[in-house]
Amino acid sequence: MVSAHLFESWTILVGSAHPAIILPVRKEVLVITTQYWIGAFANESVHSSKIGSGALAGRATGLPRPATGYPLLGKGMHIKSIADVSIVDGAIRFRRQIPGSVCSDSTICVIARDKTQQASLMKLIKWGVLLAAVLVIATFIFYKPSRILIPEMNGVDCVTKAICIDDISRLEEAEALVARSVVEIENRLGPLQNYPKFVLCSAQRCFEKFGFKRAAAHAVGKSGIVIGPGGWMPHYVKHEIIHHWQAENIGVIKMLFVDDWLIEGMAYALSDDPRAELAQPWQAYRTKFIEWYNSIDQNNLVAAVNSI
Ligand SMILES: [Zn+2]
Repeated sequence: MVSAHLFESWTILVGSAHPAIILPVRKEVLVITTQYWIGAFANESVHSSKIGSGALAGRATGLPRPATGYPLLGKGMHIKSIADVSIVDGAIRFRRQIPGSVCSDSTICVIARDKTQQASLMKLIKWGVLLAAVLVIATFIFYKPSRILIPEMNGVDCVTKAICIDDISRLEEAEALVARSVVEIENRLGPLQNYPKFVLCSAQRCFEKFGFKRAAAHAVGKSGIVIGPGGWMPHYVKHEIIHHWQAENIGVIKMLFVDDWLIEGMAYALSDDPRAELAQPWQAYRTKFIEWYNSIDQNNLVAAVNSI
């Protein structure tokens, strides 16, 4: 912090220029923060050079005298209309060398490198935030299952933290179906770490808004479960709760690399699916899972699943 008398104003801060003011960046830039011009703090960029000849004239004490050697403040300085140039009572000389720059002794030399770097960083952060926002919006638009995170954007009513529904007249039925299914799966597999958000669609249009068409229901990672119009049955709901359990205990990414017979076989076998014969390959998956399930310690299912 430096104070120097400058015309009628008090210069209270001298430093490198604000990047927004001095683009493109030049090394000979002095920034003087003053209250004078707008009655509040403001930044002024002033280009300086040294006077080589002439005389200083005026009524002030000590004038006239040779002007040689005084700093001449140019562009950026608000010069009084009656003056040709502006002379400061005193100047502060900064000298800072950065790699690749030449800073002569005769120049007040402040290099705004740090501020420029800061500006670049801010620019980068702004672009980063913008890119993230675009990605989030694009995900919501093009990957419809992601809308489970904000189901209301698809027009369903989220009546509780766990249940969203498009036909509120079926709320009681939905609550009973979900409660029963969760209890039965927890009795079999142990408590869930978090309850998924259930979206229950009575209309096909609602189901399709989440990106689904044919299946009865779908689990979306650990985020939630969407039940379609044909999926309002305990075995369908339990099937998806098992996928939710798998996401919690195997991991969403790892699930992609686990054999289908384990992922789907488990969901069909442990959801009490009433169909005696499933279409292939689901029937084969279920058979293989049941065989495996009967050979392991079922009280340590998580360890057994993860050891495959
Ligand atoms: Zn499945």
